[in-house]
Amino acid sequence: MFGRKQTPAKTSDQIILMRRAGLLVGETLALLQREVRPGMTTLDLDALAEDHIRSHGGVPNFQLVPGYAHTLCTSVNEEIVHGIPGSRVLDVGDLVSIDCGAEVEGWNGDAACTLLVGGREAASRDDVRLIDATEDALWAGLAALAVGERLYAVGEAVEASLTAAGERDGHAYGIVEDYVGHGIGRTMHEDPQIPNYGVRDRGPVVRSGFTGAIEPMVTWGSPDSRVLADEWTVVTSDGSRAAHWEHTVAVTEAGLWVLTAIDGGQEELAAAGAEYAPLGHA
Ligand code: MG
Ligand code: MG
Repeated sequence: MFGRKQTPAKTSDQIILMRRAGLLVGETLALLQREVRPGMTTLDLDALAEDHIRSHGGVPNFQLVPGYAHTLCTSVNEEIVHGIPGSRVLDVGDLVSIDCGAEVEGWNGDAACTLLVGGREAASRDDVRLIDATEDALWAGLAALAVGERLYAVGEAVEASLTAAGERDGHAYGIVEDYVGHGIGRTMHEDPQIPNYGVRDRGPVVRSGFTGAIEPMVTWGSPDSRVLADEWTVVTSDGSRAAHWEHTVAVTEAGLWVLTAIDGGQEELAAAGAEYAPLGHA
């Protein structure tokens, strides 16, 4: 479908602007990670995030999506993505995937992480494995990005990482195929789409300046999903738990800059064997 097309690309100045939005998203997720505790509702998390983004000069860009009024998507346990913040009270041992976006001066950031309510100590071993395997798969996918490479190497790397994790853990993970990563820039969702699994087409060639959001969604059981009657919330069809990790990244000749990671991805990229390459004086 994309043949030997090339990805879109941003200028260095544009990527430096996108870092401001990305950093605000990363800091908002870090705030929620510090604050989440049993007894809070998902709407409490949403209010914290909206206040943080607006008080730092950003706009919650999920609110720019027609029909959506919140700052976050909060997906609990068997919910995969697009859960709507509300009156649900979080309990010890719940797993909550938080997807967050912000626009700053017309540029967008988008990231997600899965948190364990009550911390890792309170979580089941299976949930810890699921979350860690998904986060590792995200970093493997990011590390597969390089100028001149084909974009869909990302999905191959995500899939290979999860296959390896499955062999290590003695459990086969499910990769959700109904939702994918995407380009990002002036708007949160731009072409091209980026599958989280290997596909026959290897995708467009990555140009220097490409900015994308990589976001594996992984289930403990079947990767099949369905949408609830609220027309947003996506759950696993078999009721098994799911995790979702996402980062916005910029790819240049020198390497990668993970715009939604507070440290720009420096530590995790090194661990994944990729070059960390911030722009400007960041
Ligand atoms: Mg997102
Ligand atoms: Mg996204």
